[in-house]
Amino acid sequence: MKKLGKFCATYRVEDAKQFRLRDFDPADTGKLRSREQAAAALQKGVAQLSELQDKLYAQDRWALLLILQAMDAAGKDSVIKHVMSGVNPQGCQVYSFKAPSTEELNHDYLWRTMRAVPERGRIGIFNRSYYEEVLVVRVHSELLKNERISPSLITKKIWDHRFEDICAFERYLTRNGIIDQPEKNWKFSIADIHEREYWDDYMRAYEDMIRNTATPEAPWYVVPADHKWFTRLVVAAAVVDTLEGLDLAYPRVDADKRKELEAARKLLVGNKQG
Ligand code: ATP
Ligand code: MG
Repeated sequence: MKKLGKFCATYRVEDAKQFRLRDFDPADTGKLRSREQAAAALQKGVAQLSELQDKLYAQDRWALLLILQAMDAAGKDSVIKHVMSGVNPQGCQVYSFKAPSTEELNHDYLWRTMRAVPERGRIGIFNRSYYEEVLVVRVHSELLKNERISPSLITKKIWDHRFEDICAFERYLTRNGIIDQPEKNWKFSIADIHEREYWDDYMRAYEDMIRNTATPEAPWYVVPADHKWFTRLVVAAAVVDTLEGLDLAYPRVDADKRKELEAARKLLVGNKQG
């Protein structure tokens, strides 16, 4: 039974072309009324996640990439901390994308991403991502100039081209067993007064990005973030739901291997007795 799935299903963007940000309410808490109600569900979710991650790691075939993209101060760090609290640190890799360095700017924009993609058996979390390339870079056009792209390549189509390339990149990852799952949450934040002037531009950029990059292989979840206790639950549910959709199983021990283990066991027992 997919117990947790009900907490994330509503926030998954299914019909990309019709997507409108204003259809999603940041204050939404589903049917839950209190932090306490959510805490019990989250606890179960974290336990399930821990079990699934153990299998993911042992099977070593798939990787899950969770991308968190949100406005400053939306609480990405605390989501990571709470949702991943039960996960074995060995099976989890968190990567924070900051403004690109000089070396990174000398390369194409996905260059730095490739090195951070989680290896098989792992859950990778991107705290911000290549999606900044169609968000902050779109809102602040001077950033595009820093990228040293020839002006002849900077046309009206540049954002559509980036959407296309991002979708192609995500399809490539999916075909290689990396399940890509972007999430976005937002919250009005007065913390960043400078970026506040650009709020509407950002919201337009987010909306256009989701319309153009929400795919069945790499779905977007638009997660309400006014109530942190609900945000965490939705993200945990989305991760559990996605992992449950994979054919995760512990590797089977075949007859030869079992004999080998049996022989080793006897040897150990023998040594102890001797
Ligand atoms: P925190 O503030 O909690 O440490 P953060 O993710 O906000 O975490 P910052 O160093 O404040 O980290 O912000 C990172 C900055 O890097 C953001 O302003 C973001 O827009 C910017 N950034 C990330 N990727 C790119 C990119 N590809 N091009 C330009 N700016 C980027
Ligand atoms: Mg910051």
